[in-house]
Amino acid sequence: MGIQVTDLHMLRDQLVVRRQKLETAVARSETANLLQLLEQVDRALERVDHGNYGICEVCKTSVEAERLFADPLTAICLDCLKPSEQRALEQDLHLAARIQAGLLPKKGFSAAGWKVAYHYEPAGQVSGDYCDLVQNGKDLYFMVGDVSGKGVAAAMLMSNLHAMFRVLIPMGLPLEQLVERANRLFCESTLPTQYATLIVGKADEFGNVEICNGGHPAPFHAGQHGVKAIEAATVPVGLFCDQKFSTTSLRAVPGDSLVIYTDGISEAESPDGAEYGVAALEKLLAGCRELASHELVEKCLKEVLAFRAGSPRLDDQALMVLQFVPEGVAQS
Ligand SMILES: [Zn+2]
Repeated sequence: MGIQVTDLHMLRDQLVVRRQKLETAVARSETANLLQLLEQVDRALERVDHGNYGICEVCKTSVEAERLFADPLTAICLDCLKPSEQRALEQDLHLAARIQAGLLPKKGFSAAGWKVAYHYEPAGQVSGDYCDLVQNGKDLYFMVGDVSGKGVAAAMLMSNLHAMFRVLIPMGLPLEQLVERANRLFCESTLPTQYATLIVGKADEFGNVEICNGGHPAPFHAGQHGVKAIEAATVPVGLFCDQKFSTTSLRAVPGDSLVIYTDGISEAESPDGAEYGVAALEKLLAGCRELASHELVEKCLKEVLAFRAGSPRLDDQALMVLQFVPEGVAQS
């Protein structure tokens, strides 16, 4: 897929800014590397003006858009890279995957009377899904999100979100203000085409839960009286700096679960192109109240896998189950 006209304008602006920075640097010290970069920027700007920016110089097909965002000087598609260049890129990917794996919460996490299990799986080597758990005082904060784009660029945005919430949560802001602050920082630190859908929640030892939804699929509350989607009309994070957010509250009783997922789960496809769907997930949850959080995660994944019946996983998948199992209450 080629790049959009608005992205082309944005990338051209980026190139012009970089050109100015390079010229300033060259004026101070004329190194071979700086001159070479300057020449590459000029060649890229020429390609924009001639209407062939984003077209591979070797095979004339489209250069991958996410690679252009990561490096606007990219002039050759992945398939046309030399073997040594492909190896270097693979090593970068391995490194990015290791960095990302290090950001995930520990398995078997529990806090404030909540037992949490999750599954996190990139479609490629790295994922644009975001998944984190933070205990702050007596509260448990949980985050699940999905960043726009794919590959390393999306993984870097995911780590950006991770770091932001880790810094913001200890400030103890009301939940909607926490997300508003994160939204502003995200807007200021990313490109205009980048955004994220996001669930940010807070749960306490009494079963009180607050959830803020930024354009993400509605999570489920699997309770005594059935499964309910926690609906909210919201817009993703990173689109508008002055966006306001609101929260939804609920009260969980022992044994209740919250189930949060990314669209890699609900939009998993069968070999004939059918979608797994939110309704199927809801139905599955309705029959699983007796399961512990990690068993529920396993059961969901098994069902999605069976539904796909061998067709390739196209999108990153994340699934988180938080079960309220306060101390002193045996789980039936
Ligand atoms: Zn090519």
